Amino acid sequence: MHVRVLGAAAGGGFPQWNCSCCNCRRLRQGTIRSQARSQAQLAISTDRQQWFLVNASPDLRYQIESFPSLHPCTTSLRHSPIDGVVLTSAEVDAALGLLLLRESQPIAVYATDAVRRLLMEDNDLFRVLQRQQDQVRWHRLVPGETTELKGVAGSPSGIRCTPISSGGGFPGHVPVEKSETLDPAEAVLGLLFEHEDGSMAFFPGAPSVRTEWLQAIASCDALLFDGTFWSEDELIRTQGHGKTARQMGHSPMSGADGTLESFAGVQGPRKIFIHINNTNPVLDEDSPEFKQIRAAGWELAFDGMELSF
Ligand SMILES: [Zn+2]
Repeated sequence: MHVRVLGAAAGGGFPQWNCSCCNCRRLRQGTIRSQARSQAQLAISTDRQQWFLVNASPDLRYQIESFPSLHPCTTSLRHSPIDGVVLTSAEVDAALGLLLLRESQPIAVYATDAVRRLLMEDNDLFRVLQRQQDQVRWHRLVPGETTELKGVAGSPSGIRCTPISSGGGFPGHVPVEKSETLDPAEAVLGLLFEHEDGSMAFFPGAPSVRTEWLQAIASCDALLFDGTFWSEDELIRTQGHGKTARQMGHSPMSGADGTLESFAGVQGPRKIFIHINNTNPVLDEDSPEFKQIRAAGWELAFDGMELSF
């Protein structure tokens, strides 16, 4: 399986357009050892011909152009090697990019029933994906049920996908009365991708690390996990108000029961933080926090990172 990290940042990207936190300011000044990152986005493939996007970020148009394997072939006017999209949630960061794929290119979209309903019901803008019959072919993901990813014409990828409820909630803009009609287990997913040669776990948003996940993750070749915040009160300290990391659906890296501690006994996979918020001190490669994650065996995802297994 080939994995291309097209974007590694949390919502807003790094730097964020309206942010002058310590990291964003120093990145613009060129005084931090780090690099800009676009909003979290993966592309996966087994043959480098047929690709599946994992989520559809607001930066997707630029991210596709940045990776020639996703460009159309030159022998056909309309073509894309992108055959499907797998969504982990209905958050803006994860799903807005679907609107950027609206140019009548048929595509398969895998999502829970709750995520599909949040995007397609009560949401006139997303009807641009329904201008033609079968423009978007929805495939239902059910937590705990393994499905093989297939392209829009039914061509098999050889990739099995098992969704896992991550414990996160519905996006903040969803009215309570709407969320009460939806299954909370379908709000935010972690995804296990397996191919005959390798496997990967992808959890871009998880409020905690559940012990029942550890056995499956330990046997993977790679783990890409929620690296949004270093500390529980990071956003409150940065901007003077706001929610804690866990209240926002993100296990902090540090602290008791933080991500580093929770995965300390998991030695099998390459452990990589992704969905990194621009306020996170690990983005500074000279920081003690960056040195701490490296000492604990973790890597930090960056735009253009590739994994093969
Ligand atoms: Zn910032």
